Amino acid sequence: MIFENLKLTEPVLRALQDEGYITPTPIQAKAIPCVLDGKDLLGCAQTGTGKTAAFSIPIIQNLLAEAGGNGRKSVRALILTPTRELAAQIGDNINAYSRHTRLKHTVIFGGVSQKSQVEALRKGVDILVATPGRLLDLVNQKIIDLQTIRFFVLDEADRMLDMGFIHDIKKILPLLPRKRQSLFFSATMPAEIEKLSRQILNHPEMIEV
Ligand code: AMP
Repeated sequence: MIFENLKLTEPVLRALQDEGYITPTPIQAKAIPCVLDGKDLLGCAQTGTGKTAAFSIPIIQNLLAEAGGNGRKSVRALILTPTRELAAQIGDNINAYSRHTRLKHTVIFGGVSQKSQVEALRKGVDILVATPGRLLDLVNQKIIDLQTIRFFVLDEADRMLDMGFIHDIKKILPLLPRKRQSLFFSATMPAEIEKLSRQILNHPEMIEV
């Protein structure tokens, strides 16, 4: 299996070539066709398996395929992750995979001034990578509107729970449109995480690696 077999479009394939990726990892081989197909996804996978590309690549392609894919001002994809390090890494990956497109993205997290984050948001982004607390802050200040979200990723759900973010997530969920595609990743699936996944996902495909 090579990336050329996955029905990816030219700007995405070219970015993967630039990165030196040839063969999809097992989670990518399973997740990419499923997400391109518009399905919700429950992924049981650790960091290091290539899961970031497994959700970022098909979301980039889905955003490009939506009517008026380029040059909009509204946030259409939201990726929630527990730590600023993970958020920054996901942002770097999205930067690489979207480099031959006009899609815009930004990363927001707490513990730093919100000023430059707000400036980036005001310019308009298609993809937002965020930690839950800062996201809620900016939503409450009406700087971010979640009603335009079409694609939602909850990354490292079990760590979110361990770090006490479950309350923030429960506040964020009702602010998202019902009509959306959701992807949920966790390294482990304790009962509480499984329950949360059921609240978020709609007839998901399950992938375990
Ligand atoms: P992740 O599990 O998303 O943190 O990815 C782990 C590392 O593998 C990252 O440094 C990626 O850049 C790299 N990577 C992801 N997918 C591939 C691939 N298909 N081929 C080669 N490297 C990859």
